[in-house]
Amino acid sequence: RAKQQGRNTYQWYASDLNDEANERVELRNDLQKALENGQLVLFYQPLIDSRTGRVRGSEALIRWYHPSRGLIPPNAFIPLAEDTGQIIELGTWVLYQACRDAVRLQGLGYREHRISVNVSPMQLRQGNFSQKVTDTLRQTGLAPELLELEIVESAILYDTEQVIEHLRQLRALGVGIAIDDFGTGFSSLSYLKLMPVTKIKIDRAFIKDVISNRSDAAITQGILSMAHHLALEVVAEGVETEAHAAFLRKNNCEMLQGYLFARPMPFAELLDYLGQRSTSPSPESPDGA
Ligand code: C2E
Ligand code: MG
Ligand code: MG
Ligand code: MG
Repeated sequence: RAKQQGRNTYQWYASDLNDEANERVELRNDLQKALENGQLVLFYQPLIDSRTGRVRGSEALIRWYHPSRGLIPPNAFIPLAEDTGQIIELGTWVLYQACRDAVRLQGLGYREHRISVNVSPMQLRQGNFSQKVTDTLRQTGLAPELLELEIVESAILYDTEQVIEHLRQLRALGVGIAIDDFGTGFSSLSYLKLMPVTKIKIDRAFIKDVISNRSDAAITQGILSMAHHLALEVVAEGVETEAHAAFLRKNNCEMLQGYLFARPMPFAELLDYLGQRSTSPSPESPDGA
C-alpha cells in the first residue's frame, strides 16, 4: 500500500511538473503570437526632478495584453523570454517602439523629455548590440541624448569586455546608461570605475522602509554620497509617500520615481499627464510654484 501511495505521489508530482512545462510551452507559443499580433504595449512611468517637481523623462515598462489571461506583468514573462531567447526579438521591438514614442513627444514640444528603456543582459551580449541601437536611433530620428538604457549589475558579469565596449560606443554617441536596481546585485563596486555609467537607480527595496529602518537609511545615504563623488545622478525607485520624497530631497537625490507621483500608464495617458502638468504649474517657474 505504501508502495502504491508512493507511486501515486510520484505520478502526482510528475503531472504537476508536466503542467508547469506545458504552461511554459503554451506561454512561449503565445508570446511569439503576441509579438506578431501587437499584444505587447509599452506603459510609461514619469521620472520627477526632486528639486523642481518637473517631469524629466519617463521609463518604458512592457505589458502584455493576453487574449484569455488578461494583462500580464513583465515579471511573469520577461524571465521566460530570457530562457527561450525571445528576449532578443522582444527587446528590439521595445527599443524601436520607445524611440518612436519619444520622437512623438518631441513633436509635441516636450523637447527635453528622455525615455529610459530596460535592456536585458542577453541583449547586451549580442555582438551587434550597439549597432542595433545606433540603427534604431537613425531609423526613428531620435537624438541619442534623449535615450537612456537601464541595465542591471549582473549584465556585466559575463563578456565584460564586449559589454563595456558596447556601452562605451553608445555613451560616445550621447546615450545615457543607468544602473537599475542598484544595491541588489552581488557584483563588486569596482565595475563603476570601468563602466561609462551616467546614473544610478536605487532599488525600491531600500526606499520602502527608509524612514523607519536605520540600515536602509544608511545604505541609501551611502549610495547617494558615493554616486555624487563619482559625478553620477541618482534616481530613487518606489517613492510611495511624501516622507520618502522628503528624505530623498534632504539627501540630494536628483530624481524620484514612484506611485506618489504616477503609476506606469499607457502613452495616451502620459500625454494627458504631461499636458496637465505643463499648464499648471507654469513650466517657466523654476520651483513649480
Ligand atoms: P524595473 O525596471 O526596476 O522597473 C520598476 C518596477 O517597479 C516596475 O514594475 C514599476 O511598475 C514598479 N514601480 C514603480 N514605482 C513603484 C512604487 O512606487 N511602488 C512599487 N511597489 N512598485 C513601483 P513592472 O512594470 O512590473 O516591471 C518589473 C520589471 O520588469 C522591471 O523592473 C524590469 O526589470 C522588467 N521590465 C519591464 N519592462 C521591460 C522591458 O521592456 N525589457 C526588459 N528587458 N525588462 C523589462
Ligand atoms: Mg528599470
Ligand atoms: Mg529597477
Ligand atoms: Mg527591477
